[in-house]
Amino acid sequence: MVKSNETIDDPNRPHFNFDNSFARSLEGFFKFCQAEPVVAPKLLQFNHALAEELGLDPVALDSDAGLAIFSGNAAPEGSEPLAQAYAGHQFGGFSPQLGDGRALLLGEVIDTRQRRRDIQLKGSGRTPFSRGGDGKAAVGPVLREYLIGEGMHALGIPTTRALAAVATGDAIYRETPLPGAILTRVSASHIRVGTFQYGAARGDVDKVRKLADYSIARHYPDTADAENPYLAFFAAVADAQAALVARWMSIGFIHGVMNTDNMTISGETIDYGPCAFMDSYARSTVFSSIDQHGRYAYANQPEILIWNLTRLAETLIPFVDTDKDRAIELLTETIECIQPLYESHWLAGMRSKIGLSTEDSIDLQLINDLLSVMEGGHADFTLVFRRLSQVLRGDSDAVRHLFKEPGAFDAWAQRWQKRLEQDGIAAETRAQAMDRVNPIYIPRNHKVEEALAAAVNQDTVPFSKLLAVLSHPFDEVEGNEAYAEPAPVTGRPYRTFCGT
Ligand code: AMP
Ligand code: MG
Repeated sequence: MVKSNETIDDPNRPHFNFDNSFARSLEGFFKFCQAEPVVAPKLLQFNHALAEELGLDPVALDSDAGLAIFSGNAAPEGSEPLAQAYAGHQFGGFSPQLGDGRALLLGEVIDTRQRRRDIQLKGSGRTPFSRGGDGKAAVGPVLREYLIGEGMHALGIPTTRALAAVATGDAIYRETPLPGAILTRVSASHIRVGTFQYGAARGDVDKVRKLADYSIARHYPDTADAENPYLAFFAAVADAQAALVARWMSIGFIHGVMNTDNMTISGETIDYGPCAFMDSYARSTVFSSIDQHGRYAYANQPEILIWNLTRLAETLIPFVDTDKDRAIELLTETIECIQPLYESHWLAGMRSKIGLSTEDSIDLQLINDLLSVMEGGHADFTLVFRRLSQVLRGDSDAVRHLFKEPGAFDAWAQRWQKRLEQDGIAAETRAQAMDRVNPIYIPRNHKVEEALAAAVNQDTVPFSKLLAVLSHPFDEVEGNEAYAEPAPVTGRPYRTFCGT
């Protein structure tokens, strides 16, 4: 399926060892389809390190031939481009047919660590699932997904990755004309809770079973040997997602559109639309302009996790037990474990953020009290945790200054110090461990906007610099102070948009 005019036996031609198990196994969950050609593609970003990890040749790809592939102008040999079908609850309302309206799965490769990874183009034109949309994406949102996804990866949070971003040279039409772009996205798979809902909504029990078997084999092979594999599969997805949301909460990340079609089965963060990081700690923080009722506010994310997983559970009822009531009972028991499971992931993460290596029954209260003091004192979430380690190095002022009224923090810090005494680790060792889990650089909203605005105007220097800073979020670098600072206070709340 080579559309470009390169010769087949060119040794420098980018080569992908595609092995397309989704296309082979899951008929009914996709439609084959081609990318729309674009006029004047230009490479905006290319991820050499990820290309290497995928077992691809970065030099061969960082070329005109690579550009032809990443722009959708040439389908690489062995690819079988397809748009996946899925359904989903969006803001609580069910849409039985969504699907990849602006994305194409090129195929799957086995990476250098023997993991199967999807390679997908996002923004490559209309598909059978585009409904009223144009299937396109704009430079700003494509680079935003690139930047925040790679930033999340550097923070150690499971996420889809970005292999390349190209400007298409075409204008796309939203409220105003915008420069078009395509993201090449890499994921453990693109199977979503909504993929299961798609089959279930059609009453297609056999197809949903095939999807579950496929997902078990691809993501949770150990559950195949469980006494009740489908129940074990559900518990495994729940655990992966509970761990993921706990990680989000521990770094102040707000996804913004936790619809069931934006929740993966693999446990990777997916679909960076209106997501953003919180500056000063406030539980009710919402950035997305379309989230008018705050359904996906920061503090609601753990509840939405359970709500979404319950939608997945509903699709698995026929496989968990032949007796429907018994299946519901078993799944309900597992659903009831999600909240405590989430809390244990969260507590473990928060303990390490305040430097604890042991467990004590007072820890939950201690952590919640710090959060309350932060909320009352309008303190910056990221910097408070980062600067706690400074206290152990003899400097309390750095963190105290982050609170409007430091008195409440001082009282908390005394209790914290007492707890640390029981924990028996040398101060510098503890401070270093804290600096490895509390980032100094996160994608600050004003820095992201600044970089994207410049990139849209063809200046990619601020973007590249920000990407470089976010690639090492735990290592403080002299000269990068501006990247650690919260946004200057404008009095206006920060708003994000879906960018579709
Ligand atoms: P998202 O906001 O990325 O979660 O997308 C929600 C749904 O809308 C998915 O089915 C997308 O494929 C579809 N969609 C979003 N933008 C477009 C577009 N420009 N053209 C076609 N479909 C789109
Ligand atoms: Mg989506």
